[in-house]
Amino acid sequence: MKYLGKSTMMASALALTTSAAFAQEATGDIPPVTLFKNVMVFDGVNDGLKDVDVLVVGNKIHKIDADIPEGGKWEVDVRTGGSKRLPDPVGGIDGYSFTVQTERGIETKEVDVTVIDGDGRTLMPGLIDSHVHVNMYKNGTIPGLQDTTWEEIGARAAAFAQEMLAMGFTTVRDMCGAHGGLRAVIDEGSLPGPRIYSSGACLSQTGGHGDWGIAGQRKNESNLERLEITRLVDGPAEVLQGARRNFALGANYLKIMVSGGVTSIKDPIYQSAFTNEEISAAVEVAGDMDSYVAMHVFMDSDLSRALDLGVKVVDHGLTITEPTMQKLVEKEAFFSPNLTALAPEALEHPMHQDPTFPPTAKFLWLRENSKQLMDLVKKYKPKMVFDSDYVLLTGVPYRQSMDFTKAFVAREFGNLWALQMMTSNGGELAALTGRGNPYPEGKLGVIEEGAYADILIVDGNPLEDISAIGAVDTWFDAPPRGQDVPSIRMIMKDGVIYKNTLES
Ligand SMILES: [Zn+2]
Repeated sequence: MKYLGKSTMMASALALTTSAAFAQEATGDIPPVTLFKNVMVFDGVNDGLKDVDVLVVGNKIHKIDADIPEGGKWEVDVRTGGSKRLPDPVGGIDGYSFTVQTERGIETKEVDVTVIDGDGRTLMPGLIDSHVHVNMYKNGTIPGLQDTTWEEIGARAAAFAQEMLAMGFTTVRDMCGAHGGLRAVIDEGSLPGPRIYSSGACLSQTGGHGDWGIAGQRKNESNLERLEITRLVDGPAEVLQGARRNFALGANYLKIMVSGGVTSIKDPIYQSAFTNEEISAAVEVAGDMDSYVAMHVFMDSDLSRALDLGVKVVDHGLTITEPTMQKLVEKEAFFSPNLTALAPEALEHPMHQDPTFPPTAKFLWLRENSKQLMDLVKKYKPKMVFDSDYVLLTGVPYRQSMDFTKAFVAREFGNLWALQMMTSNGGELAALTGRGNPYPEGKLGVIEEGAYADILIVDGNPLEDISAIGAVDTWFDAPPRGQDVPSIRMIMKDGVIYKNTLES
């Protein structure tokens, strides 16, 4: 509720308190129509802004053209998506007509168009964060999550979903523990939140990065295993079973842990995790589902062998060497390196102020062994996605971290590349889920005809000033903000407006 702004349309006033489904139902079988006028469009791919109008029909971008008329008689076939302008009848008709299939056959119905005047602002795709943890939205430590009930985790995930949408993220990729539940609640319209792609329980070997049980707990005894947020699997047979169960519970792809990690306690960072046979078992199950495997990895040798075994997405990968970067690009794998770990400001992270804290030592080792990364990325330009990967952080520190992450990738790679990571590249990665894609009808992360209507209107031009999307170039000493990001004036997801502070 906090970020519901002034609205220029009735459906948007309903959006946060009721549902997309309700808004749809209120207009019967005719989808809502929104026409964005007086906007400069960043399409998620190309440099520069285009002075065009954008017509949204239902949950899709229907037409992009210079000066789309607000009235006149247009016939839109909602089954095929085709449209044509009809001659104005005597006396004139405002609005659009739709050809719809009813029980009585094909009928033409008229509908009002909601016109939104962007007043020269930038219209762009909704943002995509390709590495989040909806089920770890809590302050503390990973062992501290052992004390969390499903009720608290679910409520926190709901809070997280609203937080992300308010920041302009209309799609996220969850990388450990979300199955299909939260997505179902959001997609039915009961909860404002982004689209969610989920890995299901992350798959880890005993003593690996996903083994978060406290000392003395055996396999299957820890809270996060019982809640199926993480899953310990040893040997190809258990990998097969665990991976299949993930898909059965609503996962869209798989995440495996092939190196040690920073936040976990039992695994050294240099740990080489999972045998080739175990990795291949996961790749086979994902292939059977027409989807892919993503890996948590830090060590170059593990990254290299897992690419050879068919893993398609590299998360972290900070110690990558030049030959492995070449291989990554050749295999057209996606790179999701969690770059803020390398920001000078990361040393000020509150978690890293205690040198006796085990994750701090791992973190410092990684920084020391990742000095080549930025140069390799700039040289080989792998397909990169935006990945925040914050865990165990909520509220103001979480917002500061997210705002800084937006700014840091732009600082390193320029605004266009950063924006592509946050939009079209994230959309391409989403489509890697193949026939199991929960959103298969259109592209994500782009402004083009036929794409899903996930749209932001922001103050200023983000290609020139990344603060237009709420980026802040300082981290923990940034001024605290509330949930609302004021420069993001309008947020539409799936054709439904969740925020609108544009003047009517
Ligand atoms: Zn992560």
